[in-house]
Amino acid sequence: MSMKRNKLFNPEGDRDFGKRRLIGGNSTNLFELNNIKYDWGMTVYRAMMNNFWIPEEIPLGNDAKDYKLLSDAEQRAYDKVLSFLVFLDSLQTANLPNFNQFVTAPEVNLCLSVQAFQEAVHSQSYGYILDTVVSASKRELIYNYWREDEFLMKRNLVITEPYEKFANEPTEKNFALGMMANYILEGIYFYSGFSFFYVLARQEKMCGTAQEIRYIQRDELTHLVLFQNMMNTLRQENPDLFTDELKQEMLDLMRSAVENEIAWGQYIIRDGILGLTDELIDRYIKYLANRRLGAIGFPAMYPEITKNPMEWVDAFSSVNQLKTDFFEAKPTAYSKASNLDWDDLD
Ligand code: ZN
Ligand code: ZN
Repeated sequence: MSMKRNKLFNPEGDRDFGKRRLIGGNSTNLFELNNIKYDWGMTVYRAMMNNFWIPEEIPLGNDAKDYKLLSDAEQRAYDKVLSFLVFLDSLQTANLPNFNQFVTAPEVNLCLSVQAFQEAVHSQSYGYILDTVVSASKRELIYNYWREDEFLMKRNLVITEPYEKFANEPTEKNFALGMMANYILEGIYFYSGFSFFYVLARQEKMCGTAQEIRYIQRDELTHLVLFQNMMNTLRQENPDLFTDELKQEMLDLMRSAVENEIAWGQYIIRDGILGLTDELIDRYIKYLANRRLGAIGFPAMYPEITKNPMEWVDAFSSVNQLKTDFFEAKPTAYSKASNLDWDDLD
């Protein structure tokens, strides 16, 4: 069934916040945030706002010197990972409004708007890195990699597809699949790239870049929690939508994402970066997939992987000891139609 795009202003809308729905509700489209239904929305919003950061506040002068001393394999991986990240954040910035115009709860509209803003900041941070760390000709090369690198081109097209499908054919099913694609992007696709930067920084190389990445990852974590809660709410409010067929399609998306991410990680690393091996990437991405699936009510896809093989990444990636696990705790409150006042949340 085709979904209806929100009216910019809907005088027939319902103000009763208890009747809000994630999609298919009858919203006035006014931001009334004194009474909220989804308290997780305000929790995520607060966390996102507290995370505000400015890319230029991190100095990158040393990285420009370090870069020249990197091995060929390290430079190649650095360039390709950045090229892919430029793609991911551009896509996110452009696509989030496509979801948002069908979401009928202002506390969730709020989060998606802030998320789009943050993805744009991430894009700008890559611009800053490329301006500061590499030469102008290298910068051009990195922006253009997808044209000449078939691997990257194919990857970018595959990732765009579910978003494009929903934008062209906005059905509830495509919405659910688009949300899954977003959840995978935030929770799987960023990760082998991020861990590559941490591996370098652990050897005291490119530490400024790693610091930029830490701030980006801290934002991505709130996006992950946002989509986890949206997915669980969608499922709870639309049980008929979640047929076995849809669930299978979601799992298929995850399985191919895992395979693509592992292949990508191995392609950029080529066993040529100290501390990262093909096998480690394989186990790490499968571990992440199990964890992501568990958070939205699916069983582990790779039950043989029960432990994080790169545990140090969790500690290494945190900014100011931010407790990353806090947000990955299972959501418990999303189902309640509460009268919670948002001032009571902190
Ligand atoms: Zn981002
Ligand atoms: Zn994100």
